[in-house]
Amino acid sequence: MINFEELKLDSLILKGVDKAGFERPSPIQEQAIGPLLKGQDVIGQAKTGTGKTAAYALPLLQAVDVKSRLVQALVLAPTRELAVQITNEIRRLGVYTGIKVVTIYGGQSINVQFEALNHGVHAVVGTPGRLIDHIKRGSLDLDSVKFVILDEADTMLDMGFIDDIEYILGRVPARRQTGLFSATMPSRIIELSRKFMKNPQKILIDSDEPSVETLDQYYAVVDPREKLHFLAGLLEREKPASAMIFCRTKYGAHRLAGELRARNYPAVPLHGNLSQHQRDHSMNTFRSGNVDILVATDVASRGIDIPQVECVVNYDVPTDPLIYFHRVGRTARAGKRGKSYILVTTDEYDDFTRVLHHTKAPIKPLRDSDKQFGFEARRNSGSYGGGYWATRPRNSFYRRGRIHR
Ligand code: AMP
Repeated sequence: MINFEELKLDSLILKGVDKAGFERPSPIQEQAIGPLLKGQDVIGQAKTGTGKTAAYALPLLQAVDVKSRLVQALVLAPTRELAVQITNEIRRLGVYTGIKVVTIYGGQSINVQFEALNHGVHAVVGTPGRLIDHIKRGSLDLDSVKFVILDEADTMLDMGFIDDIEYILGRVPARRQTGLFSATMPSRIIELSRKFMKNPQKILIDSDEPSVETLDQYYAVVDPREKLHFLAGLLEREKPASAMIFCRTKYGAHRLAGELRARNYPAVPLHGNLSQHQRDHSMNTFRSGNVDILVATDVASRGIDIPQVECVVNYDVPTDPLIYFHRVGRTARAGKRGKSYILVTTDEYDDFTRVLHHTKAPIKPLRDSDKQFGFEARRNSGSYGGGYWATRPRNSFYRRGRIHR
């Protein structure tokens, strides 16, 4: 294991690292900082919570010449929340360097952003749509940019930003360095990297597999009409100090937050149909601990750093199993213990079976009555080449439409 001093960072940057209280580089930092400092392109697969922001923020700080007043670094992020978080991290680590960073996102007055850009900034962190607005209006000049980062690249693609990303990258000088960070590496990301990156070094830190030692995962088979009642019972019993509840749709998340509030549970929604102001409000009240429950959709919540959530509830089973791991990765972080629950209705058996196929850690039946459905992860059995696999629910055909509670 190496320490920050060995990474050949400028002393003023090291002073910022020290002030931030970072003692040792995290694995993604250990592997990405060196190549980025050498000017190499890097693709890093790492999720939020691994220290990936600092993994590129520190080389970004080193790449920027603060004596110049030109924009030299650009970070693209999918959501406003993540962009703000990244800006804060760069400012925090660069507090002694004199770097000026501005956040550019839709939902904030464009005039405020004109002002900020006009004053001369070294680094711009923004969401693709609003960045393009500024490029087209001439308020953002990318001619001097030499360091570009695509953060949460998979989420940006999921959100349909591909054309915007290509437009922006097409306007940054080819003699630049590009870093791409993504929790997952679908083929579209690889294509993007082929088009816009030069011999990128690939760094694979983790899959989204949660830690078996610290996370207890449970499932419960629930009648769709009983979900709210079941959830209320769960909250009543567990009384988590903080919980994130994930829903598949914006409408579902909004309605559930309202239903919980009607039952006197302090809950706020986070989804893409809310205004920026409302999303801010939800995040701030949740982060500050004024409300205990955040009811979120996957897209709205990705990339947001919430230090520790005691419990994650999958109110709906995600259709993509990897989303399950993103969700439960919100708890049991930094060595702390956590619990996750997944509510499974008969319609979701197949989706849940796919989740089980992907996990090494057991997802246990919550109640005795859940055991009879026969969902279980088995190790080294069957014809799946010695991997882990899951059985389909026993007798599921007969049970369809009839839930035993
Ligand atoms: P990230 O994965 O970039 O969202 O970072 C998650 C959290 O870990 C943030 O609050 C960072 O400030 C913090 N962090 C990043 N690197 C380190 C480190 N080397 N030591 C301690 N904390 C860190």
